[in-house]
Amino acid sequence: MTTSTSGNTPGTSPAPGAATERQIAEADTYSAHNYHPLPVVIAEGEGAWVTDVEGKRYVDMLAGYSALNFGHAHPRLIAAAKEQLGRVTLTSRAFHHDRFARFCAELAQLCGMEMVLPMNTGAEAVETAVKTARKWGYKVKGVPDGRAKIIVADGNFHGRTTTIISFSTDPEARADFGPYTPGFQVVPYGDLAALEAAVDDDTVAVLLEPIQGEAGVLVPPPGYLAGVRRITAERGVLFIADEIQSGLGRTGRTFACEHEDVVPDMYVLGKALGGGVVPVSAVVSSREVLGVFRPGEHGSTFGGNPLACAVGLEVLAMLRTGEYQRRAAELGEHLHRELGSLLAAGALTQVRGRGLWAGLDIPAERGTARTVAEALLPRGVLAKDTHVSTLRLAPPLVISKDDLDWSLDRLREVLTAG
Ligand SMILES: *Cc1c(COP(=O)(O)O)cnc(C)c1O
Repeated sequence: MTTSTSGNTPGTSPAPGAATERQIAEADTYSAHNYHPLPVVIAEGEGAWVTDVEGKRYVDMLAGYSALNFGHAHPRLIAAAKEQLGRVTLTSRAFHHDRFARFCAELAQLCGMEMVLPMNTGAEAVETAVKTARKWGYKVKGVPDGRAKIIVADGNFHGRTTTIISFSTDPEARADFGPYTPGFQVVPYGDLAALEAAVDDDTVAVLLEPIQGEAGVLVPPPGYLAGVRRITAERGVLFIADEIQSGLGRTGRTFACEHEDVVPDMYVLGKALGGGVVPVSAVVSSREVLGVFRPGEHGSTFGGNPLACAVGLEVLAMLRTGEYQRRAAELGEHLHRELGSLLAAGALTQVRGRGLWAGLDIPAERGTARTVAEALLPRGVLAKDTHVSTLRLAPPLVISKDDLDWSLDRLREVLTAG
């Protein structure tokens, strides 16, 4: 479909057009300022490319924080959604519907697990994981009522609800939103000794991202995930892997835990599970763990709805081919080789990541990562900073090698100009 440079004249249109300015001004007036978007107003998307309201095209190197692993408007996902739109979209869980059982069965199979509890957003799935672990702690492990403790890592990002931000270590995410939910202990990410020391008789779970996305694509030291698995198994504690961003192909495997041959007790999934079409999230675990729920104890009006399940089923069918994981591994190797050469040339201070996922630390003399993202924008590349100095790259797994190279050329221009 797309050739890399068609429709783009790199570097020639730095000023946003009138339509862009009007829409941004209206958004500034009528929407809460809980985001600081780049000054681009997207109107269409296909594959790795989006088109703005001025008709200018960009490669999407963020891919909705990995919610768009299969790119924009993947024909298989759009077809599945359209087919379901013509049948039934919502029943509530008050009734069964004919997409639900298959979706849960196939998701459990992909995960090598036994049961699924579907929700909508990632934060809801993390909340569900927290509630599940606590209930399992009281009902199965025998922790005294009200004492359940969950160990988490510093720098974590698990979502934005009041309970989840209660155990965030990011002041921006947390300040002014208290009082905070108790029952969590924070230990340094990557530090096995600290984690082992924090486990006590009331500990029901360790909740971790196998690679910390929002923290800047931080890959833990080799052996860390395997060590967490060993400690949690020995102490009768659930290992909950939040694979909302790292899972479903991004790192070159279905799950990031696979890189250390680790199987957690529970996966928390979201983002790409909805194919970039609808929000779909889930907790996936064993019968011993998810079997603790009784009717009325947890739920969601939209969780596991027919449209979500139909799109989710297509996502699962696509993942079963292994094609996207393979692309992420192969293109990821290429991406990290290219970034390695920028690092060697001194254009970056650090590069981290796995598969088609990278966190790039920008040298201070180049400004902030935001400055770099703003310089990439008129050149036709969409990327996003995280914290001050890290640029995150997570292109759709469907991106062509040519489009990836074209984007990396634009990045090289920005990082080596002047
Ligand atoms: C995005 C994300 C979440 C939250 O998902 P939402 O759908 O935004 O609520 C939770 N955990 C991780 C690791 C994420 O990347």
